[in-house]
Amino acid sequence: MSLDNTSQPSVKYCADKMNAKYVHGRPEPELVPSRYALKVGEIDVLVVSDGVLSLPGAMLGHNVDPAVRAAWLEDMFLPPDVLEWALNVVVVRSGGRTILIDAGMGAEFPDLPRAGRTVQRLEAAGIDLASVTDVVLTHMHMDHVGGLLVDGVRDRLRPDLRIHVAAAETNFWESPDFSHVSMPPGFPDALRRTAKRFLQEYQSQLRTFEEKHEVAPGVLVTRTGGHTPGHSVVRLASGSDRLTFAGDAVFQVGFEHPDWYNGFEHDPEEAARVRVRLLRELAANRESLVATHLSFPSVCHVAVAGDVFRWVPGPWEY
Ligand SMILES: [Zn+2]
Repeated sequence: MSLDNTSQPSVKYCADKMNAKYVHGRPEPELVPSRYALKVGEIDVLVVSDGVLSLPGAMLGHNVDPAVRAAWLEDMFLPPDVLEWALNVVVVRSGGRTILIDAGMGAEFPDLPRAGRTVQRLEAAGIDLASVTDVVLTHMHMDHVGGLLVDGVRDRLRPDLRIHVAAAETNFWESPDFSHVSMPPGFPDALRRTAKRFLQEYQSQLRTFEEKHEVAPGVLVTRTGGHTPGHSVVRLASGSDRLTFAGDAVFQVGFEHPDWYNGFEHDPEEAARVRVRLLRELAANRESLVATHLSFPSVCHVAVAGDVFRWVPGPWEY
């Protein structure tokens, strides 16, 4: 029997058509709102999906035998070639401050048309760009800073906006090393160009830190390095509640195979050490984890499973 489905549009295709519907030049509300709210003690947290990135499956682990990688994808019911990677950003409110953690892909990359929706989805969530007091960047790859470079965004942000990023990150992008990455063609140039443009446009608003910085009560950004030299995670703590936004320190495959090198890691050996250290800590202290490229809304826990880890998705609470 043939499973030819060309006569019927896929579910994904239908969702795209719905999401792209316009009436009188204005976007209609999206079929899926793509935001998820939770509380960490007194801190308000909103996970927002920027969309998805279609990337080659090989990016999951370029130090792995392709047959082993293909078997893992098969086990996960995922296609062998192109994967849809989640792309999550987070808004945190604490102590009167509204903090955007990462900004999504933006609009400059026509090859990745299903990402870049952060601004639209913040608006749909009732979050005015002018209300954002702080931006925290886990690192300066284009899928994390691109949203700040969308036409008109800078003008809508407040002039006293503070953008927190590790000093090691801004230093790195002055002369970035791509010798250990394994990215699709065109990506290194696009990443260099975007980081450079970001530094030019937002130079006066940058607030760099060395190892850690408390952005607001219970909101601590901490440099990990690895993925990039200034890669950082954000630790939230209020009362007895804890949640870590891990940026690109953890990918879906990283629970079961923390030693697989992701194609976007500039120092993959260090990135693997960072991942294992963080996953061990989160498994031991039982706090919640949210990460950029884990399937939306990505709120989960980490358990130890022998020598590796197990991903435990959080329950949907609405
Ligand atoms: Zn990323």
